Amino acid sequence: MADRRKFLKLSLLTSAAVMAGQRLFGKTDPVTEYKYPLVKDNPIVISTWDFGKEANSAAWTILGKGGRALDAVEKGVMVPEADPNNQSVGLGGRPDRDGRVTLDACIMDENYKCGSVACLEHVVHAISVARMVMEKTPHVMLVGDGALQFALENGFKKENLLTDKSEKEWKEWLKTSKYKPVKNIENILPGSAKNHDTIGMVALDASGNMSGACTTSGMAYKLHGRVGDSPIIGAGLYVDNEVGAATSTGVGEEVIRIVGSHLVVELMRQGMDPETACKKAVERIVTRNPAAAKEVQVGFLALNKKGEYGAYALQEGFSYAVKNGTTEDVFHAKAIYTR
Ligand code: ASP
Repeated sequence: MADRRKFLKLSLLTSAAVMAGQRLFGKTDPVTEYKYPLVKDNPIVISTWDFGKEANSAAWTILGKGGRALDAVEKGVMVPEADPNNQSVGLGGRPDRDGRVTLDACIMDENYKCGSVACLEHVVHAISVARMVMEKTPHVMLVGDGALQFALENGFKKENLLTDKSEKEWKEWLKTSKYKPVKNIENILPGSAKNHDTIGMVALDASGNMSGACTTSGMAYKLHGRVGDSPIIGAGLYVDNEVGAATSTGVGEEVIRIVGSHLVVELMRQGMDPETACKKAVERIVTRNPAAAKEVQVGFLALNKKGEYGAYALQEGFSYAVKNGTTEDVFHAKAIYTR
């Protein structure tokens, strides 16, 4: 009963806020021609995979109090970064073929400001280094040794990110040394193998501003120096505060080829809802090379300025987590290829 009262109160507040938003802000944007009401007082955060749920909760400690989306997404993705049992992000991530854990991450705020690090070793919170690149340097992206040097000069601690578990698996892999991304469909085949994932998170705060963050250890056993889509602004993440934000997971090479997250945002600008925009981007990968598309996973996740969200993937089994004032859940994205 108490929950229902809370829900009704929230719905009323949201409707009033939407009406106020329409009155104040529901004009046609002169540049984009994209109409939107600002959804005041109902922030929302969405992120990739089941582990996004815990990350969303951390983000909510900021968003729920009216805090800034940028702070929320950074705090949110730090959760899987610090989790040694998450073998695709941060500490405990699977290494490259030389046994080195190299991280890719980027962050983008409501003013097109962005920062990124690629092939960063020894620092757990790559996302915070990316944010510092954005806020303290005239650059967008730092890579490899330069990124590490910058991090250490700015107070980050040098740590060993290779856990015993990931080291053991890598040594096992060395016996065959066959590079093969596994289609990550663990959500429909629990316990099935996977060797890559990313946390991508986008949020809309109570002031109507959007931000996003994306962080990963990339593809297991990649060549040393390989960089995926996750730290590339426009590929793994894009935020346009006028329209919406998108992020991706899956085989980064496929996402980079179509500049996926930027594509999703541009499709939303043309009026598509988030799920349709994600679907069109996935279809672009299929059209380009149907045979290759069947063999890999790519998922897109998007949020628009109205707080509407949606996702789409190549393969069934891509999940995403959502949290706002009324919902906290994990959903399964629709997909091109079903089993
Ligand atoms: N997109 C990541 C990469 O290519 C991996 C993943 O999300 O599964 O590095």
